[in-house]
Amino acid sequence: MDVGGGAVKAGTVVLTADGTLTGTVLPGGGGSAMEAAETRIEHQVESDGDALSALCAAVARDQYIGLRSRWPGLPVVWGVSAAAWIDPHSGRSVFSPHLGGWRDRALPQDLSRALSGLTGLPVTPEEPIGHTPGAIPVPSVVNDADAAAWAEARLAPSTDGPDRMVFVAIGTGIGGALVRDGAVDIGEHGMAGEFGHMTMDPSGPPCPCGNTGCWELLVSADALAARAGRTSARATIDDALDGDPACRDAVAGTGRWLGRGLATLAAVLDPGRFVIGGGVAATGELLLAPAREELARHLPGGRRRPLPSVSVATLGNRSGWVGAAGVALERAGWPVRALSTGPGSSSAR
Ligand SMILES: [Zn+2]
Repeated sequence: MDVGGGAVKAGTVVLTADGTLTGTVLPGGGGSAMEAAETRIEHQVESDGDALSALCAAVARDQYIGLRSRWPGLPVVWGVSAAAWIDPHSGRSVFSPHLGGWRDRALPQDLSRALSGLTGLPVTPEEPIGHTPGAIPVPSVVNDADAAAWAEARLAPSTDGPDRMVFVAIGTGIGGALVRDGAVDIGEHGMAGEFGHMTMDPSGPPCPCGNTGCWELLVSADALAARAGRTSARATIDDALDGDPACRDAVAGTGRWLGRGLATLAAVLDPGRFVIGGGVAATGELLLAPAREELARHLPGGRRRPLPSVSVATLGNRSGWVGAAGVALERAGWPVRALSTGPGSSSAR
């Protein structure tokens, strides 16, 4: 599952014997592809940690019960990606600008206890995510942008050989990650890639992180909606795609601020490509074309040096929960090699 500052997205995937992740539809679901495997629940409990954990446990219970009724003896892992800075060793959340209730919280223990309370099942004794039938697993918890970047790099890899990719997810805020040859570089303390909190305007408005004028205040979903004078980013994106001039201008303005930030990242990291994910990336070229122009304009030497490509994430808004699942499976010792977006398979490993 993917826990963001306004919604929880969840899904169930199976890993087949050849290492392919496959979307699976639980009893009661319709269709058979990856989209049908997905659940999305909007929430307003991001500042209440206990309520957010209880909501996640309720979503996990539904997934777990469906999974168990279909495959009673199958090993199960639980992967969670969260919009928070996660200690890579313990899974503890250190800080979160957008999930105020999940600051400084032992999330793996918190979530498994909540699910245990709902199901009456004991928690698997071994750490971190081993599975015992009849017991619920302790979740693997990772940063949401790291999970999404993992999914993009591993399940939709570059075909051009060695890869240095910077992933930027635009939603409630901006998440990011640097990926080198399929591995996410999480930094010395597991907290690299917080690109959204680069200061773009020191005299700008206050940010929930405690700083002022952060990049994400200019590029987030809320910034896009405000620029268009609309109440929601979703409406702005839909109307822009339908050709509304004011919404298209708002997307272009957002794209220019995106490009300015990408220029700074390119100057520091010199990546081969930028991959843009999150809900705002659904605007596609309306966002990316002005971003590329600003990138070339503001990157030092940008007219004379090779420029990184800028493209939209292949997995779309799904990469967070799919990546959380993939990371959890690999931590449990089951390598993931590919993603099938076709019909769900029942030949689970
Ligand atoms: Zn900030």
